[in-house]
Amino acid sequence: IGCRRRPKASMDAGNEGRGNGAVRFPLSSCNDLVIQRGDITKWFVNGSADAIVNAANERMLGGGGVDGAVHRAAGPDLLQACKNVPEVRPGVRCPTGEARITPGFSLPVSRVIHTVGPIYKADSNPEASLSNAYRNSLRVAKENGIQYVAFPAISCGVYGYPYEEAATVSISTTKEFANDFKEVHFVLFDEDLYNVWSNKAKELL
Ligand code: ADP
Repeated sequence: IGCRRRPKASMDAGNEGRGNGAVRFPLSSCNDLVIQRGDITKWFVNGSADAIVNAANERMLGGGGVDGAVHRAAGPDLLQACKNVPEVRPGVRCPTGEARITPGFSLPVSRVIHTVGPIYKADSNPEASLSNAYRNSLRVAKENGIQYVAFPAISCGVYGYPYEEAATVSISTTKEFANDFKEVHFVLFDEDLYNVWSNKAKELL
């Protein structure tokens, strides 16, 4: 098929571990997985076809970490949109491993996909739950016509998931959707995460 893509050798090794340098890895012959450092609330590629994924909690009413940053940047309409998501049981709008979508409001992206990763030490099968969080986020993105999607390191903050294991789960699950998006990005807040994700992508892609 005649897709136009950046050259396969576009990974700039000189960027690794420094600055926000985006490193690209081929997901398929037509599209890339992109790993970069940065603040996911500032990320966009195209605007109307973009979504960021929020590492939310089951209540979906905001919180700390990336969730707090997403709500601050999106503005108060996001909280109202989250409140409008029906509860599946008291206090739970998005069970662990599932995903819900809202508009992006004041964010530069059109949509926010809220997912809930596992609390590493409390979950009976954290690997399955984390994989489901990525898989259901990508499924919802695809169903909504999203072409560019950006993830933070779900569960790698207060939920305590070991970075290397989380990188393996996230990249291998993303590979299942190799043909469904123009680009899948990981926007990682700190250098440790960036290095772990880059090394894992080199190994798996
Ligand atoms: P969880 O509860 O799923 O562990 P956290 O928000 O505590 O979620 O952390 C998830 C990851 O998101 C952490 O690695 C944290 O450093 C990172 N993070 C926090 N703020 C941002 C942001 N603005 N952009 C990208 N990543 C962020």
